[in-house]
Formats: sequence, structure tokens, C-alpha cells
Amino acid sequence: MIPSALRLILDGDALVSNWHWLAHRSGGGAACGAAVKADGYGLGAREVVKRLSAAGCRDFFVATWAEAEALMPWPEALGLSVLHGVGAEDMAAALASPARPVLNSAAQIARWKDAAPGRPCDVMVDTGINRLGLTVREARSGLLDALKLQTFMSHLACADEPAHEMNERQLGIFRSLRREVSAARYSLANSAGICLDPKYAFGLTRPGLALYGGIPVPGDADQEAGIRPVARIEARVLQVRDVSAGQSIGYGATFVAERDMRAAILNLGYADGYLRPLAAKGFAMAGDLRCPIVGRISMDLMAVALPAGADVGEGDWLSLNFRLPDLAGTLSQYELLTALGRRYRRVWR
Ligand SMILES: *Cc1c(COP(=O)(O)O)cnc(C)c1O
Repeated sequence: MIPSALRLILDGDALVSNWHWLAHRSGGGAACGAAVKADGYGLGAREVVKRLSAAGCRDFFVATWAEAEALMPWPEALGLSVLHGVGAEDMAAALASPARPVLNSAAQIARWKDAAPGRPCDVMVDTGINRLGLTVREARSGLLDALKLQTFMSHLACADEPAHEMNERQLGIFRSLRREVSAARYSLANSAGICLDPKYAFGLTRPGLALYGGIPVPGDADQEAGIRPVARIEARVLQVRDVSAGQSIGYGATFVAERDMRAAILNLGYADGYLRPLAAKGFAMAGDLRCPIVGRISMDLMAVALPAGADVGEGDWLSLNFRLPDLAGTLSQYELLTALGRRYRRVWR
């Protein structure tokens, strides 16, 4: 195997611990599933499914049929739902797949009833986010009557803003629909919805972000204490250089050394999802010394300043701060995870 000088160190115990925390927060009456779309938020969906199913998770969510296909063969005991539903061009893949579609429109429902009568499916209703899903009126219209409906779900728009009035409003609409629509289970909450209140959990929750170490409401003491970081970046030092006072580092010469200094050049750049806005907040650690990023992040490289006493040489590994709530700002915690590229060796520990 060609050695990789870039690693994503993934903490399988933290992933499982986060799932248990979310399952507990979902309350006694709800199963806790897992959103593994976008290749498990960039960490690797197959490995995530393996670990969470071993921990007891039974319900998984991907966005597309291609993502479902990438997880085959699929264990019979687990559920897999495809959030984008089933377009005409998806039907062959859907009929051959053990996954079930989350039907989002009247056209999708008609298509499923026609091609797969009696086969299980999920349905999404839009209670205010105006993204995917039936309108409330459609959900009430009898359209769902002949379906073998497993999970009837909706999605919250503002759950990461606990005081937002949308939360209660969507909850109220979903509660009233639950009385009219017959399904094996009902589901409303993502990670942030789970953290809002157990009344959002219904029979099944669908966390993604918090499984992977994201904090839905940064600063919330419970969440910060309960959710553990899962991903960490380690990059290799390609070169160490002396930079004299007055010299600049990197494209655009945006950083100018105030005094003589040393810099380490790392093989990590924006093509690896370490995007330019992170230069302001990101740093590497050399032992317990903090090495701030200096200058612009390049496609495949970046420079960090080495503080006096840092014992760092060519070929050494440095770990980069990847605490999601610390780095979020211009970029969301979701973007930080899903932008991670293909060049990392993903190492589960
Ligand atoms: C992505 C997604 C989730 C997971 O959301 P998080 O905010 O990552 O917890 C849940 N439900 C649906 C419909 C989604 O699209």
C-alpha cells in the first residue's frame, strides 16, 4: 500500500458513545437511528453502520439510491431509508434494493403504489421547512391509505435555535397529523431536535451531526459534556523552514514575519476540506505546543508557525485542531465534516 501522509483518526468508541447519549436523550419510547448520508458525513458510512449496528442501532438513513447501493450487502435485520424518495429513473434500483424510499410527493406515491404495491415505504411530510415532503393537505387527503407505511416523518427547520417559534409550530402540526395518518412509527427529530426536548422524539429519532461529534447548540453544557469528538486530523511535516523577519509566507504574501521564526509546511490543504476560512482559527499541536496556521491555506499545503522549543522536523506527524464547534463560523459544523476529501487514510481506533 502506498503510504499516506494524511490521516483521519476516527474514534469508534466516541461514535458509539454519542449514539448511546442520543438514544438516552430520545427517551424510553423512541428508537434512535442514524443518518449516514454523504458517506457518513465524510467519515465513511460503511464503518459507521458497522459500529452503530453492533451497538444496537437498527434504522439508517441515506440521501440517494447510489448511497444505499454503496452499503450493500445490507443485513436483513436493519432498516435503510432513502431520503430523496424514488424518481422514475430510480425505480429499477429501488425495486432491486432492500432499502425503502421516503416518498416525498404525490407523484412518488403514485409511482410506488403502481410499481411496488404492498411494499414498505416511508413518507415525509413538510411541516414548515419547505424542502422535501407532501403538503399537510396532501398527507390528510387519503393519498397514503393503500401504502404499507413504516415511518411517517417530518423535519425541523430551526431545532438548533431552541427558542425559535418554528419548533413548537412544527411539533403541533406533526402531532395533529399523527392522529390522522396511520404508520408503524413516527419520526421528527434530528440531532438538534433530540436535544430540544423528548417530546420531539416520537417513535424514532434521526441524528446525524451529533453522532459525528457536532454540537447542535455550541455552549450548551449538557451537549458539550455528552457529545465526544470523533474525527481528528493528523498531517505530516513535509519541510521545516527558517523565515526571517520581514519575509512573507504563502500565496498573496498575506502573512509577514515580525521576527525571525520557524515554520512547518504540512501536506494538508483546502482540497482536503481544510478550507481557507479555517486559517484564522485552526492550529496544529506539536506535543502540547500550539502552532497557529500562518498565511493562506493552499490546495495541498499549509504552513504553521513553530513556537520556540517545538521539536519538529521533516516527517513528523502533527495533529490539527478539528473540534467542530471551535472551527465553525463561516463554515458550519456540517460543512467541516462533509468537505473532508478522499486523500485521508481513515484510521478507526
Ligand atoms: C440530514 C438529516 C437528518 C440528520 O440531521 P442532523 O442535523 O445531522 O442530526 C435527519 N433527518 C433528515 C430528513 C435529514 O435530511
